[in-house]
Amino acid sequence: MSRVQSLKISVAQILGRPGTQKEIPVVAPLEGLQGPLARVAPESVRAELRVEAVVEGVLVTGRPVATLELECARCLKPFGAEVASEVCELFVAPGTEAPDEDAYRIDGLEIDLEPMLRDALGLELPLNPICSKDCKGLCAHCGADLNVGTCDCRDDATDPRWAPLEELKAKLQEERT
Ligand SMILES: [Zn+2]
Ligand SMILES: [Zn+2]
Repeated sequence: MSRVQSLKISVAQILGRPGTQKEIPVVAPLEGLQGPLARVAPESVRAELRVEAVVEGVLVTGRPVATLELECARCLKPFGAEVASEVCELFVAPGTEAPDEDAYRIDGLEIDLEPMLRDALGLELPLNPICSKDCKGLCAHCGADLNVGTCDCRDDATDPRWAPLEELKAKLQEERT
């Protein structure tokens, strides 16, 4: 079966014939779907979707998967990950009353899968991606990547918030001598 590049899918064959269905394998880009440290990689959204005619319109079910480009919140290293989501959404037929205002709608004889995929995968974007659960992050003092090696900062280094006071103290001591 050929893969669909567009996210606008015709439902002409099944609309109004409850019980009929078709399978739609999707591979498509989903542009601009991103958070502060995560974004969906270009051309990476894949889904085997089933579109089934029901009395109110069509029901779309399946498991969209996307590859994410992430930045570690601790060490800032770029890394990749896959996320999957589950969809089970009604697209309401023209002239049929929607169960709620936000319901997806059939436009003529087509459904546009993009808003649904955007909504579903948008929820899977991590706010705080970590490259590995053992990531040691960056040194708060010198910025060295502690996954790569240690730095020369002492363990008892002062809290950076006190640095101006420490400088003042050093200066006063200098003036006294
Ligand atoms: Zn990391
Ligand atoms: Zn350091």
